Amino acid sequence: MKLSFINARVKPIFYKYLGGGSMRLLVLEDNLTLAQGLKTSLIKAGYAVDLIHDGKQGLALLKYQAYDLLLLDLGLPSIDGIDLLKELRAFNSALPVLIISARDQLDQRIHGLDLGADDYICKPFGLDEVCARVRALLRRGTNQTKSILNYADLTLDTHTRRLSFKGQLIELHRREFTVLEYFLLNIGKILSKEQIAEHISSFDDDINPTAIETYVSRLRKKLDESLNLKTVRGLGYLLENE
Ligand code: CA
Repeated sequence: MKLSFINARVKPIFYKYLGGGSMRLLVLEDNLTLAQGLKTSLIKAGYAVDLIHDGKQGLALLKYQAYDLLLLDLGLPSIDGIDLLKELRAFNSALPVLIISARDQLDQRIHGLDLGADDYICKPFGLDEVCARVRALLRRGTNQTKSILNYADLTLDTHTRRLSFKGQLIELHRREFTVLEYFLLNIGKILSKEQIAEHISSFDDDINPTAIETYVSRLRKKLDESLNLKTVRGLGYLLENE
């Protein structure tokens, strides 16, 4: 559904499937090799990621699709990354932005940060370092200080993608894991099925909101004792404090 919308509005568009996760990232990078490397690393790190190679197309997308973080190259076709950042901040001041660029001069960095980037990493960089910075920026947005999320006797490691109950590893389907992670990042908030689906989808991995019901019921079955997950009629779900 989202895909046809994009094709209609900003044709032609180049998107790539990057897998599912509880946080949705947009990578704006025109170097295909680098973009591919970022893609692989970010999938492994458990994020849902959309990839765009063109500045104007990226900006158009950012106007209607909610993302949790933007990785932004500065030298992009059709619109420069710095100009894109200026325009982005005019309508979205909250989106964390990590600039990835070869422009490593100090004044460029300061300029990027002044315009509202949250962090800056210079090429060439290690993909592990990018993932670490992405984690740090996303934690900032959720008041989370570590990569470990604790809830009752559950421990979810957002880095290794493992869940344990009283120290025992629990097997979860990838999607069950990401849905649980999203709940744990939003304790005390009512989340609609649509909202959850939106955050764990990417273009080629579009998750139907009704599928969320299935993941929730499986999570309840597996984690019944420890998960205080309520259904709020007509609104969605609420994970209450442990
Ligand atoms: Ca570039």
